[in-house]
Amino acid sequence: MKKILAEIVRRDPDQKEYHQAVFEVLETVKPVLDRNPEYRGQAVIARITEPERVIMFRIPWMDDQGQVHVNRGFRVEMNSAIGPYKGGLRFHPSVTLSIIKFLAFEQVFKNSLTTLQMGGGKGGSDFNPKGRSDAEVMRFCQAFMTELARHIGPNTDVPAGDIGVGAREIGYLFGMYKKLRNEFTGVLTGKSLAWGGSLIRPEATGYGVVYFAAEMLAHAGDSLKGKNCLVSGSGNVAQYTTEKILEMGGRVLTLSDSSGYIYDEEGFDEDKLKFVMHLKNIQRGRIREYCEKYSGAVYTEIDPALDYNPLWTHRADCSMPAATQNEINEKDAQNLVGGGVRLICEGANMPSTPSAISVFLDNDVLYGPSKAANAGGVAVSGLEMAQNSMRLSWPREEVEGRLKQIMKSIHCTCTSAAEEYGMPGNYMAGANIAGFVKVVNAMLDQGLV
Ligand code: NDP
Repeated sequence: MKKILAEIVRRDPDQKEYHQAVFEVLETVKPVLDRNPEYRGQAVIARITEPERVIMFRIPWMDDQGQVHVNRGFRVEMNSAIGPYKGGLRFHPSVTLSIIKFLAFEQVFKNSLTTLQMGGGKGGSDFNPKGRSDAEVMRFCQAFMTELARHIGPNTDVPAGDIGVGAREIGYLFGMYKKLRNEFTGVLTGKSLAWGGSLIRPEATGYGVVYFAAEMLAHAGDSLKGKNCLVSGSGNVAQYTTEKILEMGGRVLTLSDSSGYIYDEEGFDEDKLKFVMHLKNIQRGRIREYCEKYSGAVYTEIDPALDYNPLWTHRADCSMPAATQNEINEKDAQNLVGGGVRLICEGANMPSTPSAISVFLDNDVLYGPSKAANAGGVAVSGLEMAQNSMRLSWPREEVEGRLKQIMKSIHCTCTSAAEEYGMPGNYMAGANIAGFVKVVNAMLDQGLV
């Protein structure tokens, strides 16, 4: 195992996030390899850590002033053992091949846990949509799809949204795909309802996180009712995580964006959340503007000189990080534990650093890792694909009922796998092992391809 890890680092020494994601999985699946010597003989680790295909491309586009820009586009088709590649697109200036590879790798195991037939992939660009006009975003999306269209298809690779890619971007991307291919197919998920989208898809990731948290608490004989929660981010996942926590009787005290965070001691309610949704989704404003409307709340600007995030210092019972990777470091984890937090349920992908995870596990905090906890989004994307194939739409109750059932089943899969391998209560080990075994067995069934 050490040799394989060393080889991964030697080949791509700069891909720190990718190494982090791989190390976490490999550490926890060691007992599986020990129990199944044929896995080693078939070099499954070397095979599963190497993407099936990596596509990188140039995206030239023109801004409203006539100036030409060149961004870089990526699609990592990681693993198709259990279905077509499936995973979102991220538009953010921090996007690199390492980020997309880590997200694609995580996606393989996450999709495996959903019980649906989806392989893993991820893509995106270092384009920053912030501050760009609708016309600029449209031209960029069209330029991006001009290349991507060659590589995707409803039975090959089905992208969706992620950071910086919401309903507007999916619309522009879909429109360009349809024009280039002259076909109307379910090649993207997260579409608008009127043209092939699924009810509950916008809500699915956040709702799924809260269903998963509720399952974890129920398993420990507790519930979300009356619990104070710290949520980070204020985008799609944070908004619907907040909505569902409120619906289930919990309280949410914080939200954030990349500039700072707000703390509302009274907690958010339906009206306050509606204000945040309008501010972020329609006005594309900043979270600090919340305090201009609700004077009881306090805004704190992010101070890059600090080695911790003050958002995680507030007293609470639960934490649902929903912004970005590595947003909780070791010190943040200590602050969370010191502030009374007993449950972490990850909405963002890989938001906790490895040393933060160790702090949670050492302190018996219930830790729900992203690849299990935030799988609701891709699960409902899978349901969107199913509805597209049948050319019909299920009602809201049916999609939400299926989402709830899937999150329950993921919880059950994680706890059983953790118990089977002697690590009861360790959701990270359970998620990694269960996701891994299913994909590896499928790879072995299909021969050396
Ligand atoms: P959005 O673009 O809707 O929102 C992202 C939020 O996170 C914004 O508030 C943004 O602030 C903040 N943010 C982004 N980057 C940083 C950063 N470097 N530091 C601090 N804050 C940051 O994205 P989503 O809500 O869709 O995604 C959030 C997380 O959830 C990501 O990790 C994503 O991979 C994960 N996820 C999303 C799924 C989905 O269905 N959308 C599915 C599964 C996981 P600002 O407004 O300043 O940019």
